[in-house]
Amino acid sequence: MAKIKMKTPLVEMDGDEMTRIIWKMIKDELLFPFLELKTEYYDLGLMERERTKDQVTMDAALANKKYGVGVKCATITPNMQRVEEYNLSQMWKSPNGTIRAVLDGTVFRTPIIIDSIRPAVRNWKKPITIARHAYGDVYKDTEFRVPGPGRAELLFTDSQGQESFRQTVFDFEGPGVLQTLYNKDDSILSFARSCFEFALNTRQDLWFSTKDTISKQYDQTFKLLFQDIYEKEYKEKFDSLGLTYFYTLIDDAVARIIRSEGGFIWALKNYDGDVMSDMISTAFGSLAMMTSVLVSPYGQYEYEAAHGTVTRHYYRYLQGEETSTNPIATIFAWSGALRKRGEMDGLSDLVMFADALESSSLETLNDHIMTKDLVSLVTPGTEVKTVNTLPFIREIAKRLSSKL
Ligand code: NAP
Ligand code: MG
Repeated sequence: MAKIKMKTPLVEMDGDEMTRIIWKMIKDELLFPFLELKTEYYDLGLMERERTKDQVTMDAALANKKYGVGVKCATITPNMQRVEEYNLSQMWKSPNGTIRAVLDGTVFRTPIIIDSIRPAVRNWKKPITIARHAYGDVYKDTEFRVPGPGRAELLFTDSQGQESFRQTVFDFEGPGVLQTLYNKDDSILSFARSCFEFALNTRQDLWFSTKDTISKQYDQTFKLLFQDIYEKEYKEKFDSLGLTYFYTLIDDAVARIIRSEGGFIWALKNYDGDVMSDMISTAFGSLAMMTSVLVSPYGQYEYEAAHGTVTRHYYRYLQGEETSTNPIATIFAWSGALRKRGEMDGLSDLVMFADALESSSLETLNDHIMTKDLVSLVTPGTEVKTVNTLPFIREIAKRLSSKL
């Protein structure tokens, strides 16, 4: 059998710990045997980030911007404990943050659904994809613990130094708390474009919700900017594909989503998206079954698993133990990236390979061969064969080779 060829390289970003081990297994067992894999490789492992003073992350992000499609392994975001563990010269920033800043993108998270794991919400039949705006709001707020009586005011001074807005927020008669938020039109517009692009791309309806009835400037601005971009740039394309853009109040959205079948994208402001994405992923099953793609407003894509480096499993692996870590989300990061590369380069074989890789993975799970994390999630009474990561990947490879 001739191996499937690629044209433009994928930007490959290697990572840390257990997911780095799985990364190699996936390449060795599922990609190299079938594909003339062409990648531009960047090692975002923590040691290499330290050695290059994090330049490697910036280089990878720029390459992702240049070539259009990247695939990333989970990476450690250093905290104090990691600084000691790895003897770091600095607490390097989150690589995902750096990549997101370069691509100016929005993260879309989608659960991978199988027959034997029923979502907690009975009527959900198709995945619900969450799009979270990753800029501003409470994550960049200014807060103040009000010590006692006094006046809080909101003041805006324009670039000419003119005080153009001043309003009393509250006259405190005793201690309390104070918080201010901001956002930028530019960022909201990028968010909107990424959402509309991704909806067109995946042929799904787009929902967006805020609390604009209460927040008459802040949330209202989000609503109006989305509506404006939709009408000017996307309505025709949506109409021609039979897709809908649907805005509704967030409380109404929550009620509708619980009653829905799924199968759409739900765009949310930063905090709402933070909370709702955890709710949706838990209700669908597991973080180990959740993919994540960063989509820039200019049509660049970076695919990864939603979970982290699975540190606890890695320490067991280092003790010589074979672990039963779930590689599905990382496999789907590869298939997602390869499919997108195939679509961009007009390589139908590559698209077909990505489809086959996903269906082989799902068939393996639907044959009830799975990693340990999924066992407690399957419908009671299901007879399951629990396997470790490598044998699991080999089961997928077996099914894949019979398709190609
Ligand atoms: P995590 O790696 O997602 O793992 C948390 C726990 O979830 C694991 O201990 C495991 O539970 C379970 N789990 C997650 N993925 C799994 C999989 N594929 N198969 C089986 N079980 C899985 O989160 P974390 O422990 O909070 O973070 C570890 C490191 O990852 C941190 O250094 C963090 O900075 C980094 N991180 C990176 C990214 C990213 O690169 N996008 C995202 C999040 C976190 P059990 O131990 O109970 O089996
Ligand atoms: Mg959260």
